[in-house]
Amino acid sequence: MNSQEVRSKFLSFFEEKKHSIVPSAPMVLKDDPTLMFVNSGMAPFKEYFLGNAQPKNNRIADTQKCLRVSGKHNDLEEVGYDTYHHTLFEMLGNWSFGDYFKKEAIAWAWELLTEVYGIDKDILYVSVFEGSEDDGLGMDTEAYDIWKQYISEDRILKGNKKDNFWEMGDQGPCGPCSEIHVDIRSAEEKAKVPGKDLVNQDHPQVVEIWNLVFMQYNRKANGSLEPLPNKHIDTGMGFERLCMVLQNVQSNYDTDVFKPIIREIETITAKTYGKEEKADVAIRVISDHVRAVAFSIADGQLPSNTGAGYVIRRILRRAVRYGFTFLDKKEPFIYRLVDVLSNRMGKAFPELKAQKQLIENVIKEEEQSFLRTLDQGLVLLNRIVDETKSDTVSGEKAFELYDTYGFPIDLTALILSEKGLKLDEKGFNEQLQKQKNRSRAASEMSTDDWTILAEDGEEEFVGYDTLEAQVNITRYRKVTSKKDGDMYQLVFNLTPFYPEGGGQVGDKGYLEDAHGDVVYILDTKKENNVIIHFTKNLPKHINESFKAVVDAKQRYRTECNHTATHLLHQALREVLGTHVEQKGSAVHSKYLRFDFSHFSKLTVDELRDVENFVNRRIEGKLPLVEMRNIPKEEAIAEGAMSLFGEKYGDTVRAIRFGKSIELCGGTHVKNTADIWHFKIVSEGAVAAGIRRIEAITNDAVKDFYFENNRAYFEMKDLLNNAKEPVKALQSLQEENTNLKKQIESLLKDKAKNIKGELKNELETINGVQFLAKKLDLDAAGLKDVAFELGGQFNNLFLLLATDQGGKALLSCYISKELVESKGLNAGQVVRELGKYIQGGGGGQPFFATAGGKNPGGIVDALENAKNYIS
Ligand code: ATP
Ligand code: MG
Repeated sequence: MNSQEVRSKFLSFFEEKKHSIVPSAPMVLKDDPTLMFVNSGMAPFKEYFLGNAQPKNNRIADTQKCLRVSGKHNDLEEVGYDTYHHTLFEMLGNWSFGDYFKKEAIAWAWELLTEVYGIDKDILYVSVFEGSEDDGLGMDTEAYDIWKQYISEDRILKGNKKDNFWEMGDQGPCGPCSEIHVDIRSAEEKAKVPGKDLVNQDHPQVVEIWNLVFMQYNRKANGSLEPLPNKHIDTGMGFERLCMVLQNVQSNYDTDVFKPIIREIETITAKTYGKEEKADVAIRVISDHVRAVAFSIADGQLPSNTGAGYVIRRILRRAVRYGFTFLDKKEPFIYRLVDVLSNRMGKAFPELKAQKQLIENVIKEEEQSFLRTLDQGLVLLNRIVDETKSDTVSGEKAFELYDTYGFPIDLTALILSEKGLKLDEKGFNEQLQKQKNRSRAASEMSTDDWTILAEDGEEEFVGYDTLEAQVNITRYRKVTSKKDGDMYQLVFNLTPFYPEGGGQVGDKGYLEDAHGDVVYILDTKKENNVIIHFTKNLPKHINESFKAVVDAKQRYRTECNHTATHLLHQALREVLGTHVEQKGSAVHSKYLRFDFSHFSKLTVDELRDVENFVNRRIEGKLPLVEMRNIPKEEAIAEGAMSLFGEKYGDTVRAIRFGKSIELCGGTHVKNTADIWHFKIVSEGAVAAGIRRIEAITNDAVKDFYFENNRAYFEMKDLLNNAKEPVKALQSLQEENTNLKKQIESLLKDKAKNIKGELKNELETINGVQFLAKKLDLDAAGLKDVAFELGGQFNNLFLLLATDQGGKALLSCYISKELVESKGLNAGQVVRELGKYIQGGGGGQPFFATAGGKNPGGIVDALENAKNYIS
């Protein structure tokens, strides 16, 4: 059964059981502070489990892109070494939100596996939760009794809390689970060790394929459990593992999901998979990682230096590193796999196909830049090796290479071992731990349970229509972090505050009660569909009602920038072409930032055309046309574009200004004329094929012109009110260049003269030609004089000094013969005499310099020079 059929059979099976089939949610999460990436099928449905929103159908099934590379679920280091963990994988899942429970979930799982997919039940094992004393829970006998009807009892295993109790995080919905495992070993192997001894023992052919989670508790902040009012089903089956079973192969990498990619790697690298273990690991790593990186770029998450982008960058670098070390690939090649990938998966995940070109470009550039880092790292590492006197390179040096230059530690270890050197791993790990502790301490945070004041239902957002409303607080909690100290999070029954989202910043403002007490709202954010208001203080009369007031000025400026962003998007597609797609947007009150796909720098003319396009629409006084709750299809038919990586409901909000129409949840000006003016302030590259424009509107433009104008007049003033200041500046620059040249040649002449005079001043002491003198030259001049005389005289000892802008400088020159015969050392001389000028320095035995901050000491330094030869 090929993988396409495996996927579609799963979905149609649950469709028949009255489930709605939904597309995979984007993998990169936007409004969940506890999670960067979707790491299990349930993550996109969190708000339903938490009761913050209601699904349209309480039965859902899907295949969800998951990424397990950070946080609680992190399989990254396993990937490549085993044959069944991936970074990115698909999780097939069926859900019941307060509808069916264990009986149906188990019956259907069994039916699907054994009847639809025809898996032999003699290779299956299942597990049930054995209970936990800590939580005062007994065995899950309910599940056990159901399983008994389908599978012999010696195949029902009891599992502990670690394997059989699923928790979303430290807090929140959780419950016991039943895992389904397969044993796909040969009959011979099975005869040697019974399968049930290998379940959950990391055996590559005895693996978990499906986990059925029975959500029935809520874990509170103090660690205790309370029963959930509604019980839910959450199941997750590893698609690639299922394919392995159904295609009768022993490794996920031998399924048709991976084989085409592996074949392409073989072609590019001229290696054969299955011949040598190290190369095999590398091939598995690369075939896995290219998927993770490609999918995340398609979801709008580009590699970067922080957050989710950094995780993606690290995954790609891991792939490059394995290719570099074990497949001998020193030039970019991973991007060449995107073609096969998008051909194979583009049907189920159209975002891959649509953005293939961009994905390739981004990966290629990342590869190039990391390969350059590796090159530089190798040079630095060689230098470290040269400087290392013992057979061990210190952990500190290796850490510096790793931390500052991004050079991977395992590569350092490998190269050192090839050179017969050791790495102080303990020292390295200590440094690493220190750094981790520092960043952990900085990000530590504790969150209290919510205090519920009133049944809250769904918190209505009224901020499209009003900036003021009478509200009640329905719940609150305290959050403490190193960064912000104590903060309170408040939830209202309804709110005019716009929560950060769609690139637009959250509203600020205040709450005022009937007694005139005020608390300030510092920010507003959305978490799992709940609008949360951040305050420094808890309102005194928390049970009363409040007048909630949004900071209108900030909101208005933000709206100018948001509407301008839409117009800018339209302008770019108009001026540059329809290949332009939004790749990121930040709408602040002071400026807007817009990232988009485009392959070259914008010319001055293009920038002016874009600016003019937007300003013409501002002058055109286009009114806002807002369409709330229209079907998504209708908006698309009208010309709105949906963005990859964005999660949309069935009904959407569409915003139109003239011919610009976008799906958007943000707030906007009532008429484009309100923006007053639009000005681009910068344009540049953020990644391969991605450009960034920063622009300003309204008052910020006035300030911008005012400041520029002021600078202009200041400059003009400095140029003696020149009529044409640019010309005046140019001629000033020319004059400056000429003067520099003149000074240089004058100094040269001067040095020549000095040299001539100095010859006559040489004293002969004990057979040494000696001179100690202060000269009116710069450092280069001193050196020049010293070397010139050095070339003409033998047995020379020179100490020259100068005083430059309040700093003292000493130069010592000693002829080679003296260095050898008398054991003199210029480096030592300047170090010792350096103390008179309160400084230090060094150099070679025949020439050295010292700098110091006390020119007054030069006299003493010169006087004491004679001591070295007498
Ligand atoms: P394992 O113990 O094998 O790591 P898990 O307990 O972490 O699995 P769950 O969190 O229960 O797995 O996820 C549900 C299903 O998703 C698993 O039964 C498995 O089939 C699949 N799965 C989990 N992690 C991965 C991964 N890294 N790569 C591929 N499939 C996975
Ligand atoms: Mg796991």
